[in-house]
Amino acid sequence: MSEQMNVDVAIIGAGTAGLYALREVRRAKKSFVLIDTGPLGTTCARVGCMPSKVALHIGDSWHAQKNFPRYGISGAEHLQLDTQQAWAELRRQRDKFAGGAAEGAERAAGEQLIMGRVRFLTPTLLEVEQAHGKQQIQAKAVIIATGSRPVMPGFLQPFAEHCLTTDEFFEMQELPKSIGILGLGAIGLEMGLALSRLGVEVHGADMATSVGGISDPEVSKYALAEFAKEIKLYLGAPAELAQAEQGVLLKAGDQQVRVDKVLVALGRRANTDQLNLAEVGFELDERGQPLFNPQTMQLGEHPVFIVGDSNGQRALMHEAADEGAMAGFNAVQAKPLAFKRKTPIAIAFTHPDVISVGARFDQLNPDDILIGTAKTQSNGRSQVLSKHEGVLRVYADKASGELLGASMLGMRAEHVAQFLVLAIQRQETVHSLLQIPFYHPVVEETIQSALQDIARHIPDPAGLPFGLVLADA
Ligand SMILES: Cc1cc2nc3c(=O)[nH]c(=O)nc-3n(C[C@H](O)[C@H](O)[C@H](O)COP(=O)(O)OP(=O)(O)OC[C@H]3O[C@@H](n4cnc5c(N)ncnc54)[C@H](O)[C@@H]3O)c2cc1C
Repeated sequence: MSEQMNVDVAIIGAGTAGLYALREVRRAKKSFVLIDTGPLGTTCARVGCMPSKVALHIGDSWHAQKNFPRYGISGAEHLQLDTQQAWAELRRQRDKFAGGAAEGAERAAGEQLIMGRVRFLTPTLLEVEQAHGKQQIQAKAVIIATGSRPVMPGFLQPFAEHCLTTDEFFEMQELPKSIGILGLGAIGLEMGLALSRLGVEVHGADMATSVGGISDPEVSKYALAEFAKEIKLYLGAPAELAQAEQGVLLKAGDQQVRVDKVLVALGRRANTDQLNLAEVGFELDERGQPLFNPQTMQLGEHPVFIVGDSNGQRALMHEAADEGAMAGFNAVQAKPLAFKRKTPIAIAFTHPDVISVGARFDQLNPDDILIGTAKTQSNGRSQVLSKHEGVLRVYADKASGELLGASMLGMRAEHVAQFLVLAIQRQETVHSLLQIPFYHPVVEETIQSALQDIARHIPDPAGLPFGLVLADA
């Protein structure tokens, strides 16, 4: 065992959250170590946000030919898709993103980057197991940023050779002819659609009766109708696998189908179970997750913080970045500061996209809200873009007209989400938001239509037309 090292801050995990924490610690000119088991490159760039969007983009590009005959474009039957090359291109782009992130970590941490696995010996004393031995690190503050890993339940073990997680998915050398997707949250849905658009026969199962985590029943109705055109859906029943002569049988309710492979997208579990947290006295919840303050990221009164996927709460890249920055900042303060959390936003890039912004439908009391509805088929730009049928639902406070949340299925809804998150976080009301111009024809005009639908129920006190204010107001 080498000599004990002493630092101001030890950051465990060089993913998005860890790197944002490091930025703050370096800004405060404190001593640090950044420890990672490897591989470097962040989950987002290596096996998450970025390769999944490349897969969707390749799938959409190939799938676009379905519309060619409608536009008088002929000859599409001569087009060829080399799926091996498509996936190789995906990996090339992935390597560029992940390589950039890994280099960024190496550059930012320099010789303070330690490759190894961490275990707590006390709340501020760490043991790092490295290739050449063990090292102890005493830190004034510790930031846990160890991310998460895909869940692979025990009942799938007998079928392991046919099962993939998203960690292995992008390594496939050849696409299967058919695939079952277990779990149709945002990740399962995105990957199922990408594969379906690349010509794979896709069967998707989920215990829930909705997909993509949608809680609004109206948006869910449109999403199910739309995505059932591309994925055979098995919803509302637990799925199981059974042996088949080739591949496996996917069973759900009274239905079953044979598939070559199964993508297991049943969620992710935080990488906190091997850190020795309970043994050194951190308080854990019933899931074994450490209790922490989501505004300071601190664990109890310890000088220890937990951020990103490892705290099991808001498993999104921008949340990991914010939490990392909060913890990096707080780790070097005499007393941690409480930060206001940003408005929630989630986007599945499913083309038509599924979005949720602000409060979810199931978090609101129907008696307290007004709902504005706009169908994408009444929006000129959406009609030009595709024949898909979608809907935007905006929720506003009945008494004040303040925007509370929204959910949508629609083409380019990613932009609607980013627009609405600004409005909601800035506490815009239905009437104040209608005062901005909406260019024609843009997809964002669906927001204007939904707002007008609500405004009808909250008339302007001056009786003016929607969105207009007097010159001397
Ligand atoms: C397929 C997929 C698609 C996604 N799409 C999106 C999207 O479109 N938008 C979005 O916002 N989010 C998306 N996400 C989620 C997003 O990728 C994660 O929320 C984010 O990357 C989490 O960052 P992190 O820093 O918490 O973890 P990570 O980036 O995983 O970093 C954790 C680091 O800790 C290291 N580590 C683990 N255990 C130890 C240990 N014991 N000791 C030392 N080091 C350790 C790991 O090696 C890793 O480098 C997606 C995820 C997946 C899987």
